[in-house]
Amino acid sequence: MENTAELKRYELLINGEFVPPGGGEYSTNLDPATEDPIARVAQGTSADVDRAVQAARAALKPWNAIRAAERGRILMKLADLLRENQDELAALESLDAGKPISGVQRQDVPAAIDTLTYYAGWCDKINGQVVPARPDALTYTVREPVGVVAAIVPWNFPLMIGMWKIAPALACGCTLIVKPAEITPLSALMVGRLALEAGVPPGVLNIVTGKGSVVGDSLVAHPGVDKVTFTGSPSVGRGILQGAAGNFKRVTLELGGKSANVIFADANLDSAVRAAASGIFFNAGQVCSAGSRVLVQRAVYDEVVERLAERARTIKLGDPSKRETNMGPLISAKQMKSVLDYVDIGKGEGASVVTGGKRLGERGYFVEPTVFAHVAHEMRISQEEIFGPVASVIPFDDEADALRIANGTAYSLAAGVWSADIGRVHRMAAELKAGTVWVNTYGYTDVRLPWGGSGDSGFGREHGDVAIENFTEPKAVWVSLVP
Ligand code: NAD
Repeated sequence: MENTAELKRYELLINGEFVPPGGGEYSTNLDPATEDPIARVAQGTSADVDRAVQAARAALKPWNAIRAAERGRILMKLADLLRENQDELAALESLDAGKPISGVQRQDVPAAIDTLTYYAGWCDKINGQVVPARPDALTYTVREPVGVVAAIVPWNFPLMIGMWKIAPALACGCTLIVKPAEITPLSALMVGRLALEAGVPPGVLNIVTGKGSVVGDSLVAHPGVDKVTFTGSPSVGRGILQGAAGNFKRVTLELGGKSANVIFADANLDSAVRAAASGIFFNAGQVCSAGSRVLVQRAVYDEVVERLAERARTIKLGDPSKRETNMGPLISAKQMKSVLDYVDIGKGEGASVVTGGKRLGERGYFVEPTVFAHVAHEMRISQEEIFGPVASVIPFDDEADALRIANGTAYSLAAGVWSADIGRVHRMAAELKAGTVWVNTYGYTDVRLPWGGSGDSGFGREHGDVAIENFTEPKAVWVSLVP
């Protein structure tokens, strides 16, 4: 047992104050790159959840009593504070989640700030409509906040995905209880501290850290919560949907994926291979939209396998705090074991490891970038989400064959298609079962475009104006004009 007495303690944020958990328990948070303890994190209880929900309910009126434009200014001020503190925020996220610092500075932090800035601008633009239903009445609609929101966040992009939920909810006048993933709560707590500094009133943004089975479950079951927005695994998502039925909470689920990145023989192979590599190895493959199935037309199959493996071998795997590192560890020992188990499963199914496939070193949860060739569509490594740096490269014959394979899993979050034939890319974009299709590129997200999937990838969309609809309820008002 390591000595944890010296470690910094992180408390719960409830009603504008950082408070110890009711049960007095803390978990030790590890650095995934070294397995060293880095922090002690409060383990919230169901009583803590109840206090946070009461605080969020009480804060609804005061939050909505602030003029919409002023709420927007408060969110903009929070965005400014994130920018002023971006180095500390990036370092914290990199340490807590084992993400390479260069990627956090390039993507996670700017995307979080962009999301907040975008929704700050929405605050005073959430309009109703006058609807000319009949001549004897003035009939109009207004959009009201859905109320108290539980935001349950995964560990792969704690700050960015957290902000995808926090920013639109606050813009719509909702109040929140955020439950970060148990193992990556630090950036959310920093956002909570800066939110208070920006002028977000007490109780509007609460953060309850702790176990999914305690804090998450209690939030989902709580009658004082009006909506749950969840990103995570399909199995937890299914439980949330059932648990939310008690008081008919509104639910948005962003779940996993097994996205196909389809490369036709006429594609620009330099770009396709580069993007296929970053599509699966970015964030060590712990990305819901990872291009984990690389579908390659037979004429160029061997060439693409070899070039993808070559790129995998050049990836600098190591200390996330070093600028030259482009891939860090997996998040946990559990995740590493699960990924290595899939490597064994793939071998057992008859696929061949072209490169990688092993743990690197003995400390930290590092797994080599791995490329599997001779993968058949029916294999588990082609059907199940691995959530690690493992590419399954699958050959196909023609468009119809590519579509059969690409659309042949339970998921449908994202897909990519690479071809120089403009007719083909549009045919494929129309037929691919996915919430996002990238053409001759892969992996971009932007808060202005809808994000989400269907099937085992969940339902509902985040981002853009769709999120405004998610966090508001329309109300129809009839005013009789008859005396
Ligand atoms: P997870 O489902 O285990 O955990 C997600 C969150 O749910 C965590 O905060 C966790 O504490 C909480 N949770 C766990 N049990 C709960 C319960 N019983 N009730 C309520 N909350 C509970 O997922 P993970 O391991 O953190 O993340 C990896 C998974 O998330 C992958 O399957 C991945 O595909 C998916 N994911 C999807 C997206 C997307 O946008 N679609 C984005 C990131 C991750």
